[in-house]
Amino acid sequence: MIQDYFDISSKLLKLDQEVQRQIAAKLAEIDEIRNENQWRMLKAFTACRVSATHLFGSTGYGYNDAGRDKLEQVFAQLTGSQAAIFRHNFMSGTHAIAVALFGVLRPGQTMLCATGTPYDTLHGVLGIGGASKHGFGSLAEFGVKYKQTQLLTSGETDEAEIARLAPGCALLYLQRSRGYAARPALRLGQIKKAAAAAKKANPNIVVLVDNCYGEFTRTQEPTQMGADLIVGSLIKNPGGGIAPTGGYIAGRANLVEKCAHRLTAPGVGAEIGCTEGMLRQLYLGLYFAPGVTAEALKTSVYASALFAKLGFATSPHWQDERNDIITSVVTQSQAQLLAMCAGVQSASPVDGYVTPVPAAMPGYGCDIIMAAGAFTLGSSIELSCDAPVKPPYTAYMQGGLNFAAARAAVLLAAEKMQKQGE
Ligand SMILES: *Cc1c(COP(=O)(O)O)cnc(C)c1O
Repeated sequence: MIQDYFDISSKLLKLDQEVQRQIAAKLAEIDEIRNENQWRMLKAFTACRVSATHLFGSTGYGYNDAGRDKLEQVFAQLTGSQAAIFRHNFMSGTHAIAVALFGVLRPGQTMLCATGTPYDTLHGVLGIGGASKHGFGSLAEFGVKYKQTQLLTSGETDEAEIARLAPGCALLYLQRSRGYAARPALRLGQIKKAAAAAKKANPNIVVLVDNCYGEFTRTQEPTQMGADLIVGSLIKNPGGGIAPTGGYIAGRANLVEKCAHRLTAPGVGAEIGCTEGMLRQLYLGLYFAPGVTAEALKTSVYASALFAKLGFATSPHWQDERNDIITSVVTQSQAQLLAMCAGVQSASPVDGYVTPVPAAMPGYGCDIIMAAGAFTLGSSIELSCDAPVKPPYTAYMQGGLNFAAARAAVLLAAEKMQKQGE
């Protein structure tokens, strides 16, 4: 029993039992999503005829790397895309998104972001806000213009505004996950409506979805909903906790090709890029991704139900449909926020003995606290919890390779928060 291994009060153990009964049907729903995604995955592997020889990599230029090409074929089939780049050469999600934007957009064109201000790390790529004066070669410096529409108060995209602005824009950008914003993740139906509204007004517009944290949370991907390109990171959902680095871009073949020429060099494209010893990990991680994403979703449902029972405001609600793996918990004080992070850290398989402390981070106006003890540095498909240390002391939890272990981590976090209040 869990209390044989961890110090958890009887009050919390009772709550844990209640919550488990309460969310049982929701967890069964997540299992159904996992099953469907895993069958789709298996089908893609067998239909593409993945063989043992594909798991070995190449060196040097990486010409004729059959394993690399096959893996990209599998990912394309899986996401209903014509083509994909799925490689360790992407250094982060931001890098993959930057490659996609610079790959597709040309000077003088305008991109329209219809999901409000994009994820923080993209401000430098776009050259917006404080990043507009850096001189680091942002899209703005290359003459690409930027427009933005806010989400409606309902959390839906504003189709009327999209239709009005689309004729003057070359690209519609949608961020599927909430990131660190106080809004729900976009549902696939929303992406479909936004893409349709943009294309009706401008048939040539390219619809690009930042799919970070969204992969395998539902049984389809945005490319099956009218998006022309999806982009993401392999140290999140699609790496299955096994890929040590990387990212992907998938979608329409002519657009993916443009991105490939940006990733390597114009005129060179996707034919180069050696894979060294990476391929087996990328194949295995992708194969595991539906199961691992389901574990993270269960962790999210469990955490939002348990913390709600303890009186905290949590989002999304445990019953809400999930389209990303993030759960926010509004703690009641700085001390409680630090206790929560310390609890999560104490149940990490790596660095479980350390206590996280707030520290300044470049680009943020206040100290940040991060709890993460992961096999892959910075991985957020592994359980992690971070927060800006300022009111309202909202913690963002995401990931969980394994629900049993993550449940223990959530309980230990709650335990430390309770103890702190005494
Ligand atoms: C993680 C993430 C990114 C990319 O971030 P990296 O840290 O560079 O991998 C972009 N958008 C969203 C919504 C994300 O969650």
